[in-house]
Amino acid sequence: MPMIPFKSDMSRRSFLKGACASVAVLSIPRLGHGLRHPSAPPDFVDFPSPEVMSRVLATALNRGGDYADLFLESTIRTNISIAAGEIRSMEYGVIQGGGIRIIQGEKTGYAYAESLASHLLNDAAKTAAAMACGGKTAPFSLSEISYPRYVLARETIEDVGVAERVAFLERIDRAARAVNPAVKQVTIEYMDEIKTYVVAHSEGVFARDRLPVIYLRVTVNASKDKKRAEGMFRTSGRQGMELLAGDMPEQAGREAAEQALRMLDAVPAPTGELPVVIAAGGGVMFHEAVGHGLEADGVIRDASVFAGRVGKRVATELVTLYDDSTMPGKRGSFNVDDEGTPASRTLLIENGVLVGYMQDRRTAHVMSADLTANGRRQSFRYPAMVRMTNTNLAPGDETPEDIIKATNRGIFAAHFGGGEVDIGSGQFTFGLREAYLIEQGKITAPIKGANLVGSGLEVLARIDRIGADFGSWPGTCGKSGQWVPVTSGCPTLRISRITVGGTAGGGGS
Ligand SMILES: [Zn+2]
Repeated sequence: MPMIPFKSDMSRRSFLKGACASVAVLSIPRLGHGLRHPSAPPDFVDFPSPEVMSRVLATALNRGGDYADLFLESTIRTNISIAAGEIRSMEYGVIQGGGIRIIQGEKTGYAYAESLASHLLNDAAKTAAAMACGGKTAPFSLSEISYPRYVLARETIEDVGVAERVAFLERIDRAARAVNPAVKQVTIEYMDEIKTYVVAHSEGVFARDRLPVIYLRVTVNASKDKKRAEGMFRTSGRQGMELLAGDMPEQAGREAAEQALRMLDAVPAPTGELPVVIAAGGGVMFHEAVGHGLEADGVIRDASVFAGRVGKRVATELVTLYDDSTMPGKRGSFNVDDEGTPASRTLLIENGVLVGYMQDRRTAHVMSADLTANGRRQSFRYPAMVRMTNTNLAPGDETPEDIIKATNRGIFAAHFGGGEVDIGSGQFTFGLREAYLIEQGKITAPIKGANLVGSGLEVLARIDRIGADFGSWPGTCGKSGQWVPVTSGCPTLRISRITVGGTAGGGGS
């Protein structure tokens, strides 16, 4: 039984299913290989040799095509969830396989095999090639590219046994319950993953890498005097077990519990147009309502409000927005993207002016633009497409205290909840998980049920104060049925006015 719930979206693609024997369900993962030293080259799964990869690519281009790539992956994932102080579920899975993409003009062929066996990869390549027509491509050899490394694990995940991982989670549970008797329910979701991959393409190069990621979410429900509230703590990083070192488990439990307790006394949110100060790290709004519109595939389809606006003012002068896959250890970081492009920092908006879009190989070719290392995929079962990595609004120079002090009446948005966004227009509604009134330049009562309603362009044009601090939010971005890890970061900032509705549940993810 596969433990990793990858969604299948193969309706528009040909595909080939190979042997499924690589899916394993074991109880105690403790594997020997690891990224043991920051300068040591990663150890690899038994992937096919460069010669085999070049033969598969040659098969892919046998009927013609402008470009082909081959993505081979072996991923090990552990999920543990704890509720009411007990382990609710524990899952462990290994997936292995390879995907082949061929691009010819506007056409794309994609096929995958759930196996690393060369004959099955070759069969997949033949299937993907069926859509192409034209001449035969001459064989070529592959050479490995090197690149700087931004993702390194100090303490490897696989060197920490499952029992030790569960012990971390039990510490979180105990810390949350110890905060106050009003804490009634603690739910902990934990996931770790080690993805090893090779990507080779028909320009004659291949790159390989090994990426860890750990994700932790703690949800606390509190109730007192018939009042109920929820608190959440979330952390994630492309790091090893050092992410949970020291008193991190205690801190995680306490923070989630304290947020729930603070929100027990929340009063109903005001409504109308108000200034809103967003706390550092509340940047999910910029990912959703702005970042998606700056992905070049939507721009090419003319499905983005940012299409045709390079060189034009789209925000106040205070706004500089960039996407950066080189941030050490961040959830959206990597060393090389899923198309073999080394990680980079891409300026999108500079001092309010749109300067460029995020690109993958296909869109960069169509727009005659440079590659920006935004070609990503959920797994070998999907072709890469343009995706954000760590998308950040750059800090300014004010202190957060001065921004609050300068606000007579408004809302302080400490943590965003769930929301809805139309990514073409950037129209959004976001609930606020934790928010407060600002009265006479001071943060006062917690409020519940606040909703922010507006559009990305509206918000960019109304940012009038920007802090020198910075925080980031770890999330998982969904697009066209594929999910990838991202972060979204920003300093404390003020939007001079935005519509606040008072009907949100304040929940969401
Ligand atoms: Zn997204």
